[in-house]
Amino acid sequence: MMKRMMSTVLAIILVITSLMGTTMIAQAANYSAFPVCQEEKEDALQTAPELKLNQSYRVSFKNGVYTNPERTELYNVYEPNKVLKFIPTSNGYYEASIYIAERNQHMTVQFAYSDAESIKDNKYYSVSNGSYEYNIHTSKEASIASSTYNVYRNTARGAAYLQKGKTYYIVAYAAYDDYDVEKTMKTEVQGYAYHTVPATIKVYKHSHDYEVKTYKYSDYTSAYYNCRVCSHSTSSYFYKPKTLTLSAASYTYDGKVKKPSVTVKDSNGKKISSAYYNVTYSGGCKNVGKYTVKVKFKKEYARFGSMSKTFTINPKGTNVSKVTAAKKGFKVTWKKQTTQTKGYEVQYSTSSNFKKGNKTVTVGKNMTTSKSVSKLSAKKKYYVRVRTYKNVKINGQNVKLYSGWSKAKSVTTKK
Ligand SMILES: [Zn+2]
Repeated sequence: MMKRMMSTVLAIILVITSLMGTTMIAQAANYSAFPVCQEEKEDALQTAPELKLNQSYRVSFKNGVYTNPERTELYNVYEPNKVLKFIPTSNGYYEASIYIAERNQHMTVQFAYSDAESIKDNKYYSVSNGSYEYNIHTSKEASIASSTYNVYRNTARGAAYLQKGKTYYIVAYAAYDDYDVEKTMKTEVQGYAYHTVPATIKVYKHSHDYEVKTYKYSDYTSAYYNCRVCSHSTSSYFYKPKTLTLSAASYTYDGKVKKPSVTVKDSNGKKISSAYYNVTYSGGCKNVGKYTVKVKFKKEYARFGSMSKTFTINPKGTNVSKVTAAKKGFKVTWKKQTTQTKGYEVQYSTSSNFKKGNKTVTVGKNMTTSKSVSKLSAKKKYYVRVRTYKNVKINGQNVKLYSGWSKAKSVTTKK
């Protein structure tokens, strides 16, 4: 008796060798994935129905077995393959699937994409995803083809990159693995027994179904992606995030919510796509205060945890309305600023750029809009400016947040 699992292997290998057998009795040489003689091949190509994208095509395979007179051996018998034509309207990956309704029939169905020349020469590239795998590279043209083998699942898939406008042929055939042949086919003591297997073939756009393998190192993760269907592969490296930058570190209060955008760069200085992290902002982000932006990494970056950065919303400033001279002093008046402020700071200096000798006076109520300063030198020029402040609690501690300084106005004190 033939070694059953070997029968399928032989079927594939012999497809790419020249096939001589002409009898319907399936000697090993008759495990053809294509009509065995040149005329039949040409004919099958000529008459191949064109399958459109996403359109289902029903086929049925007639398969059988033959037993020799002594019934000491059992041979598989096939009818010629189903050949379909497909012409892509754009370049890309396409997938062909074959669906067999009879799941437990131990059927093997294979199909291949190939260009016409390669099919005529019985050359095509075969990829199996069954219990064993083999790749057969023949010609350059044929390397675009692919086939899939499947025994126990209902659907077999194969995919390849196809070119727009080119004609491709999908070759499908069923091989009967005769584990249960006597039971299912009721083979006579001698002779043929056939079984018809309906199937549906469909071609659609292929999306890679990647098997991902990742390798983690202290400062990066490498990932390798291999498509389970078409064997397309690619790889990526994910370097540890290093810097988090906000589009603004501080804002001036204007009653609107502030949410600075974030930029994350890895240890190589390369920007990390926002698809790899979620950004959250601490509550509010409207009133004067200090806020935290947290970036939590996900997907391949998840192992690197999170990063955070703070930004502030400072109170709105004020302007000095006037400074009037007094005896060894002055009186400064400013515009009231009561929204999101606690009070004011008045600063004066003999230096126009406030580089040295600055004195600061705090005005603790935001309703107050003037301050008199005395006990200064007489007949001396002073520069005066004002800013607002607000006390906020940050991590349980009182912190003052300030507006920017107003423009300075000068005054010369009286005698
Ligand atoms: Zn793929």
